Amino acid sequence: MDTLNQPSRSPDTEAGAGVEPDDRLQIKNYSIESLRERLPQLGIEPYRADQIAGWLYGKGVEDPDRMTDLSNHVRGLLRDEWETRALHTEKVARSEDGTVKAVLRAHDGELIESVLIPEPGRTTLCISTQVGCPLACSFCATGALGFRRNLSTAEIVDQVCRMREVLESGAEPTTRHDGNPITNIVFMGMGEPLLNLSSVLETIRLLVHPKAFGMAPRRVTVSTVGVVPRIEPLLRAAPVNLAVSLHATRDEVRDQLVPLNRRFPIRVLLDELRQLDCVTPRRPVFFEYTLIAGINDSLADARRLVELLEGIPSKLNLIPMNPHSDSPHGPPDDAAVDRFLREVAGRGLFVSLRRSRGPDIDAACGQLALRQVSEPVVAPHRAEA
Ligand code: SF4
Repeated sequence: MDTLNQPSRSPDTEAGAGVEPDDRLQIKNYSIESLRERLPQLGIEPYRADQIAGWLYGKGVEDPDRMTDLSNHVRGLLRDEWETRALHTEKVARSEDGTVKAVLRAHDGELIESVLIPEPGRTTLCISTQVGCPLACSFCATGALGFRRNLSTAEIVDQVCRMREVLESGAEPTTRHDGNPITNIVFMGMGEPLLNLSSVLETIRLLVHPKAFGMAPRRVTVSTVGVVPRIEPLLRAAPVNLAVSLHATRDEVRDQLVPLNRRFPIRVLLDELRQLDCVTPRRPVFFEYTLIAGINDSLADARRLVELLEGIPSKLNLIPMNPHSDSPHGPPDDAAVDRFLREVAGRGLFVSLRRSRGPDIDAACGQLALRQVSEPVVAPHRAEA
């Protein structure tokens, strides 16, 4: 399958990139700049866009009747002509380790997931960019769902709104940053973000816009398995962090784990990163390496990994695989993980070990939605606001 040039319902078609015709009046599909241009066509002054964004994203208020600095006329138009919510909270699961995962339902009934990961000093939200994924990585529950469609900008942005609501209605300790309880955003949920690049970029513009979420770009990370032609356009358009899911040191192995590797092999991917002048020690690439028992966890892999990354400012995250019933693979034991870690650290790589979060709530991306489509819907743990 040519995953970059699919026909209808394809990732990243230029005409609207994931925006279904019925979503045209989804207000969260609009950047503040495009909303300023759109509003006069409805008889509303352009500066109202900033006020509306302040309510929607700054204060988390979606009911036009509560937007008290808007005139009755504008509130009425908003109520009648625009949708202010793109997603509804279907189910919330809370892990013993503090991780919170939600299944969110789009207007067409499709289900996606978002995960909140509270840690000391910060709360990270992992968001999805596609329903399912076309790339079919063999260790990934989302890959097992197949590709359904791209998410619109509104559906990506609304994950932040819905999960902030979940956070504020729950008992999780939160670290506030400029009034927002979510301090970091990672595009690492369901789907390959670079196959929905235009909606991802629109979302980033809202995340970092001072009149919207006002986040610092360094608190936003976009992850890819290696859609090589779209890496530079992303980094040129948005000064965010880049994470690359590598997962193997030999093409024979990566071809099996990440089928996209047959199109963009390891050397091609790494050479692209090596020549980018926007990748610097101050802006390194975060390499993700999922350790899978007997597949990519040998000492020879560790040594090859260090050689492969030479010349690329980088940080390495090792993640023992989160097992799921749709994959024949599993994580190495603790001793094998420790050996691998010591080998790469001893050869000078900046490396950290990330443990899978929330295994008791199926927190690996795609797992809960996968279960949801085969199980009856369960009432949310805490009802959506
Ligand atoms: S790992 Fe990412 S790119 Fe691969 S199938 Fe899963 S969601 Fe898609």
